[in-house]
Amino acid sequence: MFSKNTHHIKTICPRARNAKLVQLADAARFARGAAPEFFRRVQNERKRSVGPAPFLPHPEKWPDRGLHAAWLGHSTVLLKIDGFTILTDPVLGNHCGVRVGPMTVGLKRMVAPALLRPQLPHIDLILLSHAHFDHFDLPTLRGLERPGTAVITASNTSDLLRVARYRSVAELGWGERVHVGPLSILGIQVRHWGARLRSDTHRGYNGYLIETDRRRVVFGGDTAYTDTFRAARGSRPVDLAIMPIGAYNPWIHAHCNPEQAWRMGADCGAEHLLPVHHQTFRLSREPFFEPVERFMEAAGSRPESVVTTRIGQEWSQD
Ligand SMILES: [Zn+2]
Ligand SMILES: [Zn+2]
Repeated sequence: MFSKNTHHIKTICPRARNAKLVQLADAARFARGAAPEFFRRVQNERKRSVGPAPFLPHPEKWPDRGLHAAWLGHSTVLLKIDGFTILTDPVLGNHCGVRVGPMTVGLKRMVAPALLRPQLPHIDLILLSHAHFDHFDLPTLRGLERPGTAVITASNTSDLLRVARYRSVAELGWGERVHVGPLSILGIQVRHWGARLRSDTHRGYNGYLIETDRRRVVFGGDTAYTDTFRAARGSRPVDLAIMPIGAYNPWIHAHCNPEQAWRMGADCGAEHLLPVHHQTFRLSREPFFEPVERFMEAAGSRPESVVTTRIGQEWSQD
């Protein structure tokens, strides 16, 4: 009887396993049939190589005096303001997204960053606008952990950082001000959202005004059109406004278009503009160069006020 049962089990099990395999194969065939485009895209993405940055900046040549900026890709900008270095939303890996073991499931860059970590100078301040994966990249941030580096980030986002490994970490809300080295930094309300995943809706999202005695710089973060950058207007002009210009089709409710980015630059009284959030990741449907082409059109008779149009370009003001 025992052997009969064993025999019985042996004959049932492979059949059951077969049925499972058939079900899985059916499901896979169905998924492939239903979403061939998706499977093709995933496969093509894996094979696709990341293009080199078209320009290579040389921050090691920047003097301590003056205002200097280099666009490293997406929303990552290296700034030096009278000798103090700032890095905005650092994302320097080939992928950004959720880490699963050794892999990152998410977006792959189209163009490599203009500088990698070993080529960066000492960073005095990392300025983080919000916790979305294309702005707040944990592997990059871990690589930048230094006891001499301060971090300013949006409300309820510092739990994602290994806070003790930096000089200081400050969360800033809208309308709040904090002092770091020679800088005074104001959190500006923007129109976006902060959840990194679906449920963490408590996280904040900021634009910033960075001020010293002689310089004023706006970092717009990620935003739909808003008139809140008027808060950055003052008795002195804004020397440079870093404004996002891409990912508006169809996400216009969360990302401004180039004309709106231009208007926000005008709202804060910016003399120069550095457009970001384009030419790096495919987040939306607009053609690759459309954001910068439309931004230059919006600039009209002031094309010289746009300081970078390609990744890796740099700009300096005495
Ligand atoms: Zn975002
Ligand atoms: Zn973004």
